[in-house]
Amino acid sequence: MDIEDKLDKNTTELLSELRKEFEIVFQKKDINYCEVYTQNGKSTIFYNPNIVNNESIAHELLHIWLNKYNYIIGNHIYLSFQSDWKLSKIFNKFLCDYIGNCFDHYKMYPKYLEMGYSPEKFIMNGLDEKCSIDDIKKLHLKFLSKYKPDSVNRYIGYLISIYADHIDNSYIEHLKLLQKKEPELFRIVTDFWNRWTEFDIENIDAIHNSDIELAGSFMTEMEDWIEQKKIK
Ligand SMILES: [Zn+2]
Repeated sequence: MDIEDKLDKNTTELLSELRKEFEIVFQKKDINYCEVYTQNGKSTIFYNPNIVNNESIAHELLHIWLNKYNYIIGNHIYLSFQSDWKLSKIFNKFLCDYIGNCFDHYKMYPKYLEMGYSPEKFIMNGLDEKCSIDDIKKLHLKFLSKYKPDSVNRYIGYLISIYADHIDNSYIEHLKLLQKKEPELFRIVTDFWNRWTEFDIENIDAIHNSDIELAGSFMTEMEDWIEQKKIK
């Protein structure tokens, strides 16, 4: 049976709604998760027929739904920092994609719940803690007074993963520890996330509510933060 015939009513409705605007195809792949790849207006949802469930298809469709708002955050940061010898080492493609993904998740989760699905199935192992205290303890940002780009990269990723958790897991200790390690960086990433949560994706405009401006002010703060620092 075709995957499309297995979808429940709400996901089927979302799919047909989206198809008025986007070309969407499904493709089987030997992976243990679902993913969507969009290029030139065509979205391909990759899934494993043996483990796929309705919620994971709904999840990918919600990523496609967000495309209509046309905001760029992760990729914009990635491209902008490519020419910065320090920041390009921190903001690699993986981190920037991760930021984009987490930002998406925050904006699509309410609609996912509205469709009647459970928090547990929003992502794989949905209820789990997204970042462990041990990982944070093991994180050393500096070595001989030089910052390690890979550690700063993970620091930002950990913090974003905590903020993006759709479950109310307790991260009080995690956050305390991260803040203590690098207070200014903590503030910069936290402000960036908080501004995103308030950002109105449905009314983007270049002057009053701009995604480019939002990403830009984060990037400026990162540039200021790193300016006087030595990195490995
Ligand atoms: Zn996702």
